[in-house]
Amino acid sequence: MRNFTAELEQRKQAGLYRTRRHISGPQQPVLTSDGKRLLSFCSNDYLGLANHPSNIDALRNALPETGLGGAASHLVCGHHEAHHLLEERLAAFTGRSSALYFSTGYMANLGVISALAGRGDTVFSDRLNHASIIDGCILSRARVRRYAHGDVASLAAMLAETGGHKLVVTDGVFSMDGDVAPLRELVAVCRRYDALLVVDDAHGFGVLGPGGRGSVAELGLSEEDVPVLVGTLGKAVGTSGAFVAGPAGLMDYLVQKARTYIYTTAMPPALALATCASLDLVEGGEGLRTHLQGLVERFRGQAVALGYRLMESRTPIQPIMIGDNRAALALSQALEERGLLVTAIRPPTVPAGEARLRVTFSAAHSHGDLDCLIRALAECRYSLDAGSVA
Ligand code: PMP
Repeated sequence: MRNFTAELEQRKQAGLYRTRRHISGPQQPVLTSDGKRLLSFCSNDYLGLANHPSNIDALRNALPETGLGGAASHLVCGHHEAHHLLEERLAAFTGRSSALYFSTGYMANLGVISALAGRGDTVFSDRLNHASIIDGCILSRARVRRYAHGDVASLAAMLAETGGHKLVVTDGVFSMDGDVAPLRELVAVCRRYDALLVVDDAHGFGVLGPGGRGSVAELGLSEEDVPVLVGTLGKAVGTSGAFVAGPAGLMDYLVQKARTYIYTTAMPPALALATCASLDLVEGGEGLRTHLQGLVERFRGQAVALGYRLMESRTPIQPIMIGDNRAALALSQALEERGLLVTAIRPPTVPAGEARLRVTFSAAHSHGDLDCLIRALAECRYSLDAGSVA
């Protein structure tokens, strides 16, 4: 039998052991973690809608109408009109012909990739794609070719030498770096080499583009350009779940083939109605996005002035690059001692030697909150230089 205890010990020694915090109360910038009040800069609630009173009211009002549980899978008797309503709203919102509501983004990616690619096909995946895409590729049993991050030229060379059905998959906004994929160029090479393009806009949806329609809409790319659009609802939208949007025929195909859609209980229908309500806030959230952008820009200027190394990101994901796992943990710990919650991200979530603090911003943060973060980072900077973080 495998020695699990020894493996755990090795993880601890390498600074790779993962722990869970116990959060109590609602998700908001100041939260309670293991009984301690902390100002958090690590949630994906980019617009501050996870705890928005009108979304909570929408859920409360929906519950007596729909009941609580999903009760069955969509293809048995779980497909409630509330799910259908949300799918229609998502299709209209994204300018796609049709949309399908999945339980999580993880399941959406698994389902889409394994349904659209199989033995004998090839999936091309950006090296920094999210774990759910990597797992979807494995599950598909297709041949998988990973291309260098954002490197469309090397992708084109791979596509040129590959026959058969081809699927190209990319994050829209990369979850750990915060940069945006070269979508226009990806659309062009996919068209040139007859490959189907899937964009997972988990972190762009709600944040970028007109009305928060995401990184694909920001460039004015249509369903013809990006036939398969994945978005998540547990991040900027503030509820839970995910969707895939695209041509009606393709969505119908997914209903037949996507196992993570077929073989799982439908989401609580009331949640679908609360998500519809939240989409109205997302659509009308230009003020939230402007405030968020202001926080991001100020943070970048001040963190760089303090000597921290950031990534080329204009999104609310602003990683502070550290490198060493233990140093990243130590900085996270030092910030926590100053009342701030910024989680250290280590391999395998990011490549070896690229441990970082993944700072994320929310429209629910105030400029005063950002002042607190900058002040603490200034204090910790000196200790980092001295080789220890106190
Ligand atoms: N795609 C990307 C790019 C993600 O970052 C994540 C989650 N962090 C997911 C998909 C999975 O979404 P969910 O949390 O809804 O499972």
